[in-house]
Amino acid sequence: MGFTSNLCLWITFCLHLCCFINTGKAQNAKEVILLDSKAQQTEMEWISSPPSGWEEISGLDENYTPIRTYQVCQVMEPNQNNWLRTNWIEKGDAQRIFVELKFTLRDCNSLPGVVGTCKETFNLYYQETDSEVGRNIRENQYVKIDTIAADESFTQGDLGERKMKLNTEVRIIGPLSRRGFYLAFQDVGACIALVSVKVYYKKCWSIIENLATFPDTVTGSEFSSLVEVEGMCVSDAEEEADNSPKMHCSAEGEWLVPIGKCICKAGFHQKGDACEPCGRGFYKSSSQDLQCSRCPAHSYNDREGSWRCDCEDGYYRALSDPPSVACTRPPSAPQNLVYNINQTTVSLEWSPPADTGGRNDVTYRIMCRRCSWEPEECVPCGGNVGYSPQQAGLVDTYVSVVDLLAHANYTFEVEAVNGVSDLSRTQRLFAAVSVATSQAVSEVIKERVQQRSIQLSWQEPELPNGVITEYEIKYYEKEQKDRIYSTVKSRSTSATVNNLKPSTAYVFQIRAFTAAGYGTFGPRVEVTTKEEASGTSLNAFCLGDEELYFQFKFPGTKTYIDPETYEDPNRAVHQFAKELDASCIKIERVIGAGEFGEVCSGRLKLPGKRDTSVAIKTLKVGYSEKQRRDFLCEASIMGQFDHPNVVHLEGVVTRGKPVMIVIEYMENGSLDAFLRKHDGQFTVIQLVGMLRGIAAGMRYLSDMGYVHRDLAARNILVNSNLVCKVSDFGLSRVIDDDPEAVYTTTGGKIPVRWTAMEAIQYRKFTSASDVWSYGIVMWEVMSYGERPYWDMSNQDVIKAIEEGYRLPAPMDCPPGLHQLMLDCWQKERADRPKFDQIVGILDKMIRNPNTLKTPVGTSNAASMALWSISSTPDFAAFRSVGEWLDAIKMERYRDNFTAAGYSSLESVARMSIEDVMSLGITLVGHQKKIMSSIQTMRAQMLHLHGTGIQV
Ligand code: AMP
Repeated sequence: MGFTSNLCLWITFCLHLCCFINTGKAQNAKEVILLDSKAQQTEMEWISSPPSGWEEISGLDENYTPIRTYQVCQVMEPNQNNWLRTNWIEKGDAQRIFVELKFTLRDCNSLPGVVGTCKETFNLYYQETDSEVGRNIRENQYVKIDTIAADESFTQGDLGERKMKLNTEVRIIGPLSRRGFYLAFQDVGACIALVSVKVYYKKCWSIIENLATFPDTVTGSEFSSLVEVEGMCVSDAEEEADNSPKMHCSAEGEWLVPIGKCICKAGFHQKGDACEPCGRGFYKSSSQDLQCSRCPAHSYNDREGSWRCDCEDGYYRALSDPPSVACTRPPSAPQNLVYNINQTTVSLEWSPPADTGGRNDVTYRIMCRRCSWEPEECVPCGGNVGYSPQQAGLVDTYVSVVDLLAHANYTFEVEAVNGVSDLSRTQRLFAAVSVATSQAVSEVIKERVQQRSIQLSWQEPELPNGVITEYEIKYYEKEQKDRIYSTVKSRSTSATVNNLKPSTAYVFQIRAFTAAGYGTFGPRVEVTTKEEASGTSLNAFCLGDEELYFQFKFPGTKTYIDPETYEDPNRAVHQFAKELDASCIKIERVIGAGEFGEVCSGRLKLPGKRDTSVAIKTLKVGYSEKQRRDFLCEASIMGQFDHPNVVHLEGVVTRGKPVMIVIEYMENGSLDAFLRKHDGQFTVIQLVGMLRGIAAGMRYLSDMGYVHRDLAARNILVNSNLVCKVSDFGLSRVIDDDPEAVYTTTGGKIPVRWTAMEAIQYRKFTSASDVWSYGIVMWEVMSYGERPYWDMSNQDVIKAIEEGYRLPAPMDCPPGLHQLMLDCWQKERADRPKFDQIVGILDKMIRNPNTLKTPVGTSNAASMALWSISSTPDFAAFRSVGEWLDAIKMERYRDNFTAAGYSSLESVARMSIEDVMSLGITLVGHQKKIMSSIQTMRAQMLHLHGTGIQV
């Protein structure tokens, strides 16, 4: 034992020296220490078993700081088994634990008399537990870590002194799964001084890398493992897109392999490991930018951390402008605006604005306004005007405005715009000009040249500014030295100039007059009067006068010109109808059959105009010259009309095949079929509205001096807005075409049921005979397309009319309307109302709908009695209610009548509308049909029984 004690003192002494020589490594900053025996100031109180084995002995380190050591040196006796166990060590986060031992070990050779018992190693063990266990050491519960041998042991020094070397050994344990563990040292007979025991694990310490913070991270459990850690961006930084920051913590507690990064947000820039706001007057628009930049021109900011700068007052940024460009403003007005008028085209030219507003995207836009003359009021020109190359977005400094109205006053504003014009709320700056257009009368034709008179006709300007009320014909003698102008005025597109000298050349120029004033004169036309023949043709002269009178017969309106009076019918067509290019017309489907060929629907697209629906009448192949002329005659007539209630001619195609007449499209087709299809579906006001339209169209035609001759519901067309328009124009041929027309004794075909007696008897067709026909149309409309005089023969109709009988009021027809029909059917044509009056009466009715009220199912008894049935024995011919129902195609109700006890025609004739309804006949159209037949039957019976009022 004494040996041991001496030894120990010696070891203690030597420790000073040895420790001094082997300074320990500076503590690794990545280590987390769980146990460091050197740091312990007081006794450690580890468990030593048996107690005679390991001894706790105090010493001093190289700094003379007291340290605790454990020593054992039982080298003399065999079979040593001395255990030393540390206190319980809680492992914390650690998975992999480092154990660093510092010890000295004597070599057995240096000890005399120990051969066979002295050892030079000891064993290191550990035991994992979740908590402290008792003080007993159960050897079998320990896991051996290693047998530890000294690298250096005591050796003989050069000077013969004994040197002792301090050994450092590090062992690693893990992965650990329990909360803590004990270490144990087993000595089997060596001479050891355990100078220090340090237990630690390794961590990667929190760092900031690439503007991302990585937290403290414990290394992995395996030596080779790397722990992947995601970084958190520092404040005011954001992850770079698809590049989130990551690093890897190695087993050695070192951060390795940085991936991705954070970058400072817009408005912030990087300074060291942080993001700082941009200063005032600076901005950073995107996190991608590295630096803050100074605000661009005409912008500012007065706060820190801005991503952009605000524009100064009056300056703007276009949506597409990046924050880095200067703020800009709208350009000033274009300069030096000049214009040039060519009839209805105005060309404008200007120079760029003095100030482009700081941008290079300046374009120009045109504002067109049409102005009335007095008071000056302007409205936008709308879609009928064309712009070449375009109205807005003009890059070049010129534009042509086409399709303007003639004789109109326009204002054009040219505005320079750039990318910020629409953002600015300041007043628009533009250059403006006022321009008056004109369009001359064209295609002056010499119709008739006599010795003392010349008849001229011409084309109306294509785009008149409103209604042309008059033309002025200016002329002078060509050879006369002092030019004396004379003028003649005409309200139509033709005029005869009288009192001229024979064999003299005259120069004529014509201009139109509208509410907007005079247009420009058309081209000069030179005409030489005929030579004076012996015996001047007074007739020709007189004829000229008469025609001139005729032109002025209807003041304020144009006069219809009979195309038959043209020697060359082609000229008539081209005077009144526009020649269309066939490529503008698209035929879509066949909608009907006309006398000369198919009637189709289709589209018309004129250059610079919107496309419209049209009806296209075609001339079938293999036509004769006469057929062609007759076909186009309708266009020559229709083309002279311009009224909302007269079907409008778009134009003709005569220079291609097929020859076509293009008319506005009337969606609902002809009025008679339309009413039959919608039997009983309209209000009286709607029906009167249709009649009013037809009357207005007829007023216009009669004012023009045009007599229709075949006015009937089948010749009225209806459009999608229920507007009725008069159609089917022509001369004799229209009537030839009409299946209703029959030959009369006076020769020629006549639609008897629609025609006034004087026209049937001696072909006296006038506007007054059109008024008669109009009365029949009224009756057709109010009876929803019933056939006038039902199935009476034409001969019977003529007889009845001659005897003074007239059609009764249709079912539910207001008495006032029937009265108007009766007025139209006055025997004396002078007693019939004029169309003008008819329009007035209907307007009054529409304004006072009370006048249109009529009790349901009643009919005007007086007018009914006016109807003679002497020539219609039809009802007398019916022997039963069944036969009668068969005849009016209502046989489906036969059982209804029988069940209700109406077995005789007499009982039926007494039925009221309520009686008809009580039979269970719910369809209004059928109620009306039956009721209207009953009324006729009643009238017949009255007559048969001699109680009718005799006319
Ligand atoms: P028309 O030769 O004028 O009697 O025309 C024959 C048929 O074609 C008429 O009964 C109408 O059904 C149809 N039709 C004629 N003109 C037009 C039009 N402008 N719009 C629609 N349908 C029309």
